[in-house]
Amino acid sequence: MSRHVSPLIVGVLGFQGDIEEHLSSIMTAFKKTSIEGRTLLVRERSDLSEIHALIIPGGESTVIGAMLAGRSMVKELSDRLMNGLPTMGTCAGLILLAKRVYDRVVGDMNQPLLGVLDVLIERNAFGRQRQSFHAEFDIPRYGLAGFNGAFIRSPIIKQIGPKVDVLAKLGTDVIAVQQGNILATAFHPELSTSSIFHEELIKMASSMNH
Ligand code: GLN
Repeated sequence: MSRHVSPLIVGVLGFQGDIEEHLSSIMTAFKKTSIEGRTLLVRERSDLSEIHALIIPGGESTVIGAMLAGRSMVKELSDRLMNGLPTMGTCAGLILLAKRVYDRVVGDMNQPLLGVLDVLIERNAFGRQRQSFHAEFDIPRYGLAGFNGAFIRSPIIKQIGPKVDVLAKLGTDVIAVQQGNILATAFHPELSTSSIFHEELIKMASSMNH
């Protein structure tokens, strides 16, 4: 079997949301890690076979999910995720990765999900009065204290399965997790001055690529 060697191609799901910010954080992370690579906007099913890692951005999970379903990408993307594609979902991206989702006000959501991350998510968990805020928290796994996270109508991770590791909490709320090849955050790391999450994703993809 022929295996791809560098450069690494990191895809950003390019339907809706903060796509540009992720593209620029990936470029920063390439520089910081000295790993060679480029980015690709993923908009078609055929793009999925090109990439070695993927970012599912924040935005509106029902819209991004409907676009994925409309382009018949849900099954193939879930399969690639289950087969180890290094992937990071942020905010709406976290929601799309989850197995189970409900909305704090609306209740059970019947929205297209990739359903690969063993978590229960509450959408819009911080409510209207706190729709958007910055907060600082530690990420022990990365040896980081005082990471500055942006929360924009963010979800909370209410329950996690046995294979899910907690990366960060805000008070008692779980806000970042890892399950093998899948990283997911309730906040927006692409709006932070630190590119640590993008670096971790790239490092994971690079180690699987050689
Ligand atoms: N509340 C949005 C949703 O449920 C997520 C918000 C975001 O990604 N910033 O899709």
